[in-house]
Amino acid sequence: MNHQAELLVNLQKIDKEIENHRKRKELIPLQIEDLKKQVQDLHDEVSSLKTLLLETEKQIKKIELEIKSKEEEILEYQAKEHMVKSNEEYRALMDQINKAKEEKDALEEKEIELLYKIDELKKQIELKKKENDEKEKQIDAKIREIEDEFAHIDDKLEILLIKREDLVKKIDSGLFNQYEKIRRIKGDAVAYVVDGSCSGCSAVLPLQLVITLKSTGEIGRCENCGRLLVYVPEKDVQE
Ligand SMILES: [Zn+2]
Repeated sequence: MNHQAELLVNLQKIDKEIENHRKRKELIPLQIEDLKKQVQDLHDEVSSLKTLLLETEKQIKKIELEIKSKEEEILEYQAKEHMVKSNEEYRALMDQINKAKEEKDALEEKEIELLYKIDELKKQIELKKKENDEKEKQIDAKIREIEDEFAHIDDKLEILLIKREDLVKKIDSGLFNQYEKIRRIKGDAVAYVVDGSCSGCSAVLPLQLVITLKSTGEIGRCENCGRLLVYVPEKDVQE
């Protein structure tokens, strides 16, 4: 590689770095937003379980009141027992008492079910909290990491842009203009000889061109994609 070719290769490296930093600068705020949303989702998961717990506790209180009123109902019926005047009336009263007792039993069963449910929910909440706290810690660490990266991107970009400026001063202006023109269209302006092909477009290169680039270290041009071609031994696996 001659000196100009070396400079071009370095310029492309710097340009790629600059591009990566710029992409990260755009991406990081979105990533942070997404991570914060994930934390919110973890909180929501626990709070929806807590809401369910509260609702269940309310249901139990309601059932307890219903049981109490059933008990009062039964007492009222029982108080009437000595006032009945016929067998028929007595049977009707007994039916009412039995019915009320059955209803009370059913309510008590329901209450037991709900008490079990509350135990389950409390366990679930504890477990979820533990699990989600762990996840949240990891997410928070990730957020801090990329916030830190974000805080330094502008400094890094500034350094890279200064390096680039220095480098550009050393490159022949005609060559640099070519580089910029190709870069605008292709993204990468410099391609390498790899296995006798252009690394930019994979076209097989004329053997004579490969031999010339290899022996002189000059900058060539891929006829297929128009990129500037450089021979770098470590890129050419045939070497
Ligand atoms: Zn090419």
